[in-house]
Amino acid sequence: MSRVIGIDLGTTFSCIAHLEGEKPVVIRNLEGQATTPSVVSFTSSGERLVGNLALRQAITNPEKTVFAVKRLIGRKFDSSEVLAARSKMPYQLGAAPNGDVVVVVDGHEITPQEVSGMILGYLKQCAEAFFGEPVKEAVITVPAHFNDHQRQATKDAAKIAGLEVLRVINEPTAASLAYGLDVRANAIVAVFDMGGGTFDITILEIQDGVFHVLATNGDSYLGGEDFDNRIVEWLIDDFKKEHGVDLFQDKLALQRIKEAAERSKRDLSFTLESDINLPFICSSGVGSNHINTKLTRRRLEELTGDLVKNTIPLIEQALGDAHLEPKAIQEILLVGGQTRMPLIRTTIADFFRRQAREDINPDEIVAMGAAVQSAILKGQQTELVLLLDVTPFSLGIETEDDTFQRIIERNTTIPTRKTMPFTTVENDQVRVTVHVLQGEYLQASKNKSLARFDLVGIQPAPAGIPQIDVTFEIDADGLLRVSASDVVTRMNQEVQVRPSAGLSKGEIDAIIEKNRMLP
Ligand code: AMP
Repeated sequence: MSRVIGIDLGTTFSCIAHLEGEKPVVIRNLEGQATTPSVVSFTSSGERLVGNLALRQAITNPEKTVFAVKRLIGRKFDSSEVLAARSKMPYQLGAAPNGDVVVVVDGHEITPQEVSGMILGYLKQCAEAFFGEPVKEAVITVPAHFNDHQRQATKDAAKIAGLEVLRVINEPTAASLAYGLDVRANAIVAVFDMGGGTFDITILEIQDGVFHVLATNGDSYLGGEDFDNRIVEWLIDDFKKEHGVDLFQDKLALQRIKEAAERSKRDLSFTLESDINLPFICSSGVGSNHINTKLTRRRLEELTGDLVKNTIPLIEQALGDAHLEPKAIQEILLVGGQTRMPLIRTTIADFFRRQAREDINPDEIVAMGAAVQSAILKGQQTELVLLLDVTPFSLGIETEDDTFQRIIERNTTIPTRKTMPFTTVENDQVRVTVHVLQGEYLQASKNKSLARFDLVGIQPAPAGIPQIDVTFEIDADGLLRVSASDVVTRMNQEVQVRPSAGLSKGEIDAIIEKNRMLP
């Protein structure tokens, strides 16, 4: 039987695992480490580096070292999230013809899917070295709050890497799978997942091998990087006050400061003070200047306390959707490196009045859960396990007067399919435009537009007579298909959603072909 792996494709770090007997085990990368930096660097000699080798280039080659691409995948160049990222990324971003954000290296446009594909390609190579045979299939995890475009783009990235995705599963659900199988618990569990770029809270019930997600909520733009950025801003502000030099303009200095800030943040999870020493950070007209300062845990908490606080309303919302009080939660799992921060641990413990479990590795548990799921799908996991996940957003269409008509409510168990009847608003209307949206606002224009398509060939009739059935279908990967058909005339016409973002099959094939030619 061919090998299959579980992949946690993280914003800052990625991890792979497989099932050894009944136990999920992490596969180390070619350098022997359990996690791999999600970084790709393009050298001046045209070489492409991935992982630790790429990360080491970040200071000397900042404009061509691409990190945190998961924050860009499936997003538009002019979205607020990408706008926020633009000032902080040392590499250049641009817009593809369809408006999707792309990375620009040496004048060449590279899609986030291609960059993620390069990271996945490296992880595949590590797994193949470990097994000594080709690996073609994988289960990949995504943040629970990833939308349709982000999920589809992640699948495209895997295709570029030559991997068939058996299933896309949500990161917190994967974590609960690894944990639940290990301790064989029946419990109501809250998974608080904060990695480098995203935050999710998921409430699940584990009962006799059935993992039932009750509700999920989160922010796909809140993670460890935001904590780093606060430290960076603090250091740069102080430096500007003292020396009158804006280090934001100096890409090399900015990268050094960013790395030092992240290191210091990690240290402060275990110590109360951390020294930040960056000699010769820049040379001004009067000589060389250094950063030589101390960051205390208390100061870090002042700088970032609001980021931690921002998670509470999202947790309350998830609990509300699950119709549960905080005291109903019997286990708390903390997932993602950022949850090592003591302020996060105490805030969560205060909120739930319960300590989180200490016996799980927040960096590895998601990949381990993905490995469990891959074994279930391949029939290699003999225990009866059923995973019932949910869709994180409401889905529907735009109707008259900018109104959003929900067809599938958020937190509906997937896979799911629902049909709703609609009609025409004008006499003899032969065409309707179906505008597919995702979000929670009553006003259609405030929600995220996913796709737009026309249903043509409606039999002319007075307004309100034709019956047009619109069907929404979400598959087990959380991906959406929408179709519409004219029922009254019995001339049914099914229309597939044409995504307004992402890569077409032809574009993916072209990238795969191009990659074959690269060193
Ligand atoms: P992940 O995506 O799960 O690998 O999480 C990566 C994020 O966790 C990065 O922002 C790291 O800076 C952060 N992180 C890792 N270790 C620690 C730590 N000891 N304390 C605080 N944050 C950490």
